[in-house]
Amino acid sequence: MSDMNKPKRKAEHVQTLIAGEWRDASGSMYSTEYPFDGSVIAILHAATVNDVNEAVAAAEAARLQPTWANLMPHQRAAFLHKIAAGIRARSEELAQLQMLDNGKPITECRGLVASAAGTFQYFAAVCETFEDAVTPQRGEFMSISMHEPLGVVGAITPWNSPIASEAQKLAPALAAGCAVVIKPAEITPRLAIELARIIDNAGVGMGAGGADIPKALVSVLPGKGSVVGDALVRHPLIKRIAFTGGTLVGKGIATLAAEKLMPVSLELGGKSPTIVCADADLGHAVAGVLYGIFSSSGESCIAGSRCFVHTSLYDEFKTRLVAGAKALRVGDPNSERTQMGPLISSLHRAGIERYVAMGLKEGGKLLCGGTRPQGLSDKATSQGYFYEPTIFEGLANTAQMCREEIFGPVLALIPYSDDADLIAQCNDNEYGLASGIWTKDYQHALKLGKALQTGTVWINTYKVFSIATAFGGIKNSGMGREKGYASIMEYMTQKSLYWGLNERPNPWSAS
Ligand code: NAD
Repeated sequence: MSDMNKPKRKAEHVQTLIAGEWRDASGSMYSTEYPFDGSVIAILHAATVNDVNEAVAAAEAARLQPTWANLMPHQRAAFLHKIAAGIRARSEELAQLQMLDNGKPITECRGLVASAAGTFQYFAAVCETFEDAVTPQRGEFMSISMHEPLGVVGAITPWNSPIASEAQKLAPALAAGCAVVIKPAEITPRLAIELARIIDNAGVGMGAGGADIPKALVSVLPGKGSVVGDALVRHPLIKRIAFTGGTLVGKGIATLAAEKLMPVSLELGGKSPTIVCADADLGHAVAGVLYGIFSSSGESCIAGSRCFVHTSLYDEFKTRLVAGAKALRVGDPNSERTQMGPLISSLHRAGIERYVAMGLKEGGKLLCGGTRPQGLSDKATSQGYFYEPTIFEGLANTAQMCREEIFGPVLALIPYSDDADLIAQCNDNEYGLASGIWTKDYQHALKLGKALQTGTVWINTYKVFSIATAFGGIKNSGMGREKGYASIMEYMTQKSLYWGLNERPNPWSAS
């Protein structure tokens, strides 16, 4: 769409928090769009390598300031609780902003905001209860294993669930006592900036001795990954990178990190299999598979994009699934009724269209979708980046469309009849993020679940999360874990203290 034809919406000039100052970043100006109608919603400046250097140096100084460094864990926990309260106090506004930023339905955005608040609340509890250890005595000494914050950490996030991704990195990092520089996706920077504002406000009076927590503890640097993200990864004072994004970029970051001997966590792509067994409850399975692939318009790392269905119920399942997909309400993200909003951008939609064309070329048959919607529910306009829920059959698991991550509302249905062959097909993929099983037989579910090479297995449910449960992938879906009690340790380094108890000098050197 040419700029002249774009709907007029009042674009906001957005500043960010860099090195303790609310200001424009120092690079060139750019704008972000509401994917529903392509209107410009924010005008901001991209960060530069200089901004990275400033933010990291200020973060290092901030984390060493006694007002932060001397806080006891329970005091850091109080700060995190205040951040959670700050998110909740603005929850509807943040959900609206998240919706404008990436076009997800408002109901989903409310869930993301609630989960971000819950993440800070959870890590406040972790922070307050995390224990160093006095290890068993093995000589004339006492040994203590203690934990210290790693330093300044970098958080690099994608566009698909910004506030949740950012909270999952910020909360454990702050709980551990680190400072954080965030590089949000260029096209969805708003929620990281708002989180920084909430953290900045929450810091008033919460530092040691009632001082303010240093403003430079958290910076947000919007802009290009190849410039800002790259400079962040390479910076010598950055002691860890928490990355969520594509596998190729993640591998590049891992290579740079190896040179610095820097720990990284990589939450990467997926091509998740869902299995519908012969004894599955069809109603549950149909609803779960629809949700697993088409919620978030399929723009989800855990989207269940390969569905293996037992031949004994394949036809009935297919009929019900396709009817369900056709009935999904695609439309205005701001309507409570909408189940699928637009895709993130016209560029991303073009990529999905290429995959669908490839699927057809590879011999796949379209059961529904495969096109932009003709009529939309509610008041959605044809200017949004919409795409219909799309289901293919007739593709082998080895087809390119079944091997690669599409990151859109495209599902491949694949019949199976034998468990050993099923497991081999499910695992025959470079990714290993998540999988789903629909069966009434729990022993069978456990057997399949153990055989699936994925970081998460959902049984008779899909895409449900607990902040208390670790999340992450294996194979090309990444390494390291977010969420869960132990994830605070990803932001800490262990130090061992030995206290000599011997009342006599060391006999080796005693004369
Ligand atoms: P992306 O890899 O293109 O970008 C992710 C982030 O990395 C962005 O902030 C980007 O600017 C930055 N980046 C790009 N190049 C960089 C570089 N050279 N150095 C440092 N940073 C760089 O991914 P995307 O398109 O924004 O997101 C979609 C991908 O994210 C999908 O593959 C999806 O599966 C994955 N994802 C994974 C999870 C998970 O938890 N496993 C969650 C959400 C999304």
